[in-house]
Amino acid sequence: MPTRQFSIGHKFLLLCLLFLVLLQLLLMGDVRLFLRPLVLSMEKQFADSQQHRVTLVLQRDLHDLRRISQDWSSWDSLYEYVGAPNPAFASENLIPETMEGLELDLFLLYDKEGRQISSLTSRNAAGQPRLLTQLIPPDLQQLPLFRALFASLAGEKLDSFEGIVPTPAGLMAISLQPVLHSDKQGPVNGALLMGRLLTPDYLERLAQIAGVLFSLSQVSDRQDFSRYRIEDHRVTHVSEPWQEPGMPTLLLTVQVSSELGLLVGETLEYAWFFTAVALGGLTLVFIYLIHRLVLKPLRQLEQYVGLVWRNDLQVIPAPPQRNDEIGRLSNSFVGLLDELTIKQQILARYSYEDSLTGIANRRRFEESFTQSFLRAKQAGSSLALLMIDVDYFKPFNDHYGHPEGDKVLQQVAMAIARSVNKVSDLVARYGGEEFVVLLENSDLAVARQVAERICHNVAQLNIPHASSRCANRVTISCGYTAGIPQGKDNGRRWHMVADESLYQAKGAGRNCARGKPLPPLPPPGEIDDSLPKA
Ligand code: GH3
Ligand code: MG
Ligand code: MG
Repeated sequence: MPTRQFSIGHKFLLLCLLFLVLLQLLLMGDVRLFLRPLVLSMEKQFADSQQHRVTLVLQRDLHDLRRISQDWSSWDSLYEYVGAPNPAFASENLIPETMEGLELDLFLLYDKEGRQISSLTSRNAAGQPRLLTQLIPPDLQQLPLFRALFASLAGEKLDSFEGIVPTPAGLMAISLQPVLHSDKQGPVNGALLMGRLLTPDYLERLAQIAGVLFSLSQVSDRQDFSRYRIEDHRVTHVSEPWQEPGMPTLLLTVQVSSELGLLVGETLEYAWFFTAVALGGLTLVFIYLIHRLVLKPLRQLEQYVGLVWRNDLQVIPAPPQRNDEIGRLSNSFVGLLDELTIKQQILARYSYEDSLTGIANRRRFEESFTQSFLRAKQAGSSLALLMIDVDYFKPFNDHYGHPEGDKVLQQVAMAIARSVNKVSDLVARYGGEEFVVLLENSDLAVARQVAERICHNVAQLNIPHASSRCANRVTISCGYTAGIPQGKDNGRRWHMVADESLYQAKGAGRNCARGKPLPPLPPPGEIDDSLPKA
């Protein structure tokens, strides 16, 4: 029987699990190798656009400062004031309200010799003016551009400057303009510096305008920074150095709302989940179908075959009919079984039949004798045994040849068979030219009748036998006996007595029947259980 320990079902289940794991690994590989890099590059693009937005807002703010400072620096009144400062102008224009109106934190005026002639600072949270030292960039005078401005004051025209510079109070947007006539013509009479502190509040306002969160910080020139900060496979910040010529480097860091990454991540998780659930479900349906369509019918067939084996190859009702491969296999098996049964029956018949005469053979006789003996013993009925031998058969063969002898044996067998009437009577070829007849429920008188009838019927065949010394035709001699099986009796006695009787018939000149009853049963222990062999 096939072992169930590792059935097709188990193998299939294992394969399905392997397949699922492989598929999940493939999905993971796809996500890691293709999808994530793609999302990352999209996020970087998005981060760059956000950073560009912030840069634009900062530049627009600087531009605004420049516009204001240009307005002031090309105001004829200021031009005159720088040349010859008068208190009336200062008290009217250089006042805190101007600072507040222009949202300035620093207002510095220099004459053409580079001397500071006027300064204004914004008020702090407590309402006090901020200290000038806190607002002026420490190295402002040393900055190449500032130095160039005053070194070239004698010259005609100088470039203005806008930028974000560090101060002790924090980063500040400044605009430095040469003071000119309103027609923007020289000579330069001095310089105007306007500054706007980039306080957290102010930066927040700019962030609101840009719609992006960002921060500005000073870094040392050689500081190493990575442009993108990536957390959890998502771009969260993009950093950009803000380098004004001759100024320390600033770092603009833009915080990116990584909605895309989050969205893709969530979508992937859902997709993963649904794929796993869908695949799991499909696998279950597949397993169910395989079980229903393949495994169950196979098991039914297996059980059926087992049942047939246990029942000694008997044809029993086949499993339910199906119109598929397993159904056809099942039908073939049933057909094969039918064929086998028929062949088995033919074989059984052959194994009990004498091939020459067609009557029962010795094996059949011995089995029948055992059964008849038991039946007679149980019923207490008489059992008769006749042993028949063809007379002078060797000379017949010698005279007429074996083929003729065979024909005689066939005719004799038919004649003997014709001589018995009951269904329970058995005629068999015992071997060579010897036959036996078994008669149930028959005593010695019946045995004699049948024996004489056989002698008569064979003689009546009138088969010429020129070399017989007892007649001119084929004859037989018959020895018989009959008796009721008793106690520990066995069939050997029937054989011995019938054989002795046959010898008597031979001795009496052949072509006759002789018989005698069974002698009394010998004492226990002397009985030989075995049947005589030919
Ligand atoms: P008896 O009257 O004493 O029985 O003499 P017999 O010649 O018949 O006895 P014996 O046992 O000497 O010879 C038996 C012969 O039967 C020998 C054999 O040639 C023949 N014989 C046995 N079986 C067959 C068979 O199948 N076909 C043929 N043709 N002859 C057979
Ligand atoms: Mg013989
Ligand atoms: Mg003989």
